[in-house]
Amino acid sequence: MTKLVVIGSSSIDLVVSAHKRPEKGETILGESFKTVPGGKGANQAVAASRLGAEVYMVGCVGDDEFGKMILDNFKKNGVRTDYVEPVTHAETGTAHITLAEGDNSIIVVEGANKYVTPEYIQKAMDVISSADMVLIQQEIPEATVDYVAEFCGEKGIPLLLNPAPARPVSQAVIERAAYITPNETEAGLLFAGENASDAMKKYHNKVFITEGSKGVRFHDGEKEVLVPSYKVEAVDTTGAGDTFNAAFAVALSEGRSLRESIQFANRAASLSVTKFGAQGGMPTRAEVEGSL
Ligand code: ADP
Repeated sequence: MTKLVVIGSSSIDLVVSAHKRPEKGETILGESFKTVPGGKGANQAVAASRLGAEVYMVGCVGDDEFGKMILDNFKKNGVRTDYVEPVTHAETGTAHITLAEGDNSIIVVEGANKYVTPEYIQKAMDVISSADMVLIQQEIPEATVDYVAEFCGEKGIPLLLNPAPARPVSQAVIERAAYITPNETEAGLLFAGENASDAMKKYHNKVFITEGSKGVRFHDGEKEVLVPSYKVEAVDTTGAGDTFNAAFAVALSEGRSLRESIQFANRAASLSVTKFGAQGGMPTRAEVEGSL
């Protein structure tokens, strides 16, 4: 069993669906309401655990009901919560999602995720040092991403950076990360002013651009390659990227080749879009292997 450490956000998604979006000052009746666990860090931790890795989450929740829901959900999915601490100075992070007219609008309140700082993660440095791979995303402070990249770079621990949501990333972090997995929008910001093909060539076997149903593009040192995803009936693509990242990390840390790891991750991510919710469709190891 490989050991993965996920350093990132945990939140609760409050999802309302309605026939339309309310205008300024307007009140309307909604159709349904769901409360589901989310946050890119938590999603990736749950996905990796379902795929059979030993997963330690490093994150922060509030000392409130939503924080308890998040901890319960980690436990239910076999994610170790030794380094997820409820704090009293902030509420649990939330995402307020309106589904209307076939699209979503989202307000994110970072809450406790803002406190996943370099100081906060000090207590987890031992587990980070012993990880086969570390996963990090950008729903926590930039200083933490910089710090973890420096630490992993110095110790030779492979770091997978999922640069989501999009924000500029320092050159030092790009150099130090072993794998970087932007989607097309994030790649645009990550390599602003540079052509994506040139950037992939420069960072061959390091930068993997996910292109939704098309699959994943990277440069193997000789040529640019597109590894196609699998054809499925997509129901909800929320969390596809999170499943992809988790599965990619699991396969890589088990020593599989790049190509095999991408195929495994494409398969896991394509299965995840066939069910509702970010975590709802995240497959188990047996489901991925049974369908390959
Ligand atoms: P994000 O969710 O971060 O925006 P993408 O949309 O690029 O990321 O999706 C990540 C990966 O999930 C893709 O590279 C692919 O493997 C898989 N995927 C996403 N949407 C689909 C789909 N409709 N059909 C099959 N695979 C998909």
